[in-house]
Amino acid sequence: MADSLKIIASEINSCKKCPLYEGTICAVPGEGPTNAKLFIIGQAPGAQEDKTGKPFIGRAGKYLTMMLEKTGIKREEVFITSTVKHFPPKNRPPTQEEMQACQPYLLRQLAVVNPKIILLLGNNAKNLKDHPSLKGKIVLDAIHPSAAMRFKKMAARMDEEFLKLKEVYHSTP
Ligand code: URA
Repeated sequence: MADSLKIIASEINSCKKCPLYEGTICAVPGEGPTNAKLFIIGQAPGAQEDKTGKPFIGRAGKYLTMMLEKTGIKREEVFITSTVKHFPPKNRPPTQEEMQACQPYLLRQLAVVNPKIILLLGNNAKNLKDHPSLKGKIVLDAIHPSAAMRFKKMAARMDEEFLKLKEVYHSTP
């Protein structure tokens, strides 16, 4: 049977491949259209995402949505997910082991969506830059919105990175 976002999400929802699921309310597989041109990878779900199972809906998510709007991209057009699919305790960054355990889901989501452009948000996601599965794609990176929200300098950098995204997104068929 062909893989699908629905199948992957249902596997993520019952995943126990690493201890991250312990103490969480919901898994956060990611969401967006199967044929999205742009695929965004963040770091890890936060508390709001844990409560709802939806990616990037807390403060950082609102910032990301605002940045996408400024860029002329509708959030509903984009597939959005993170390097790990469960909320790490106390909002700490995911470990290398947790990201490795979760990576097969991310790679399957990428294979199903087959996006033209991938945007890596923050340092954890940036580590994927040279992964063979991203070969042939336009790979961009940007500051994570939670850093941009906290530091003016980071916000200015994110503005510049999203100008590049704007140029690339609107010139890619
Ligand atoms: N930050 C992320 O990287 N992912 C989310 O889903 C929410 C916040």
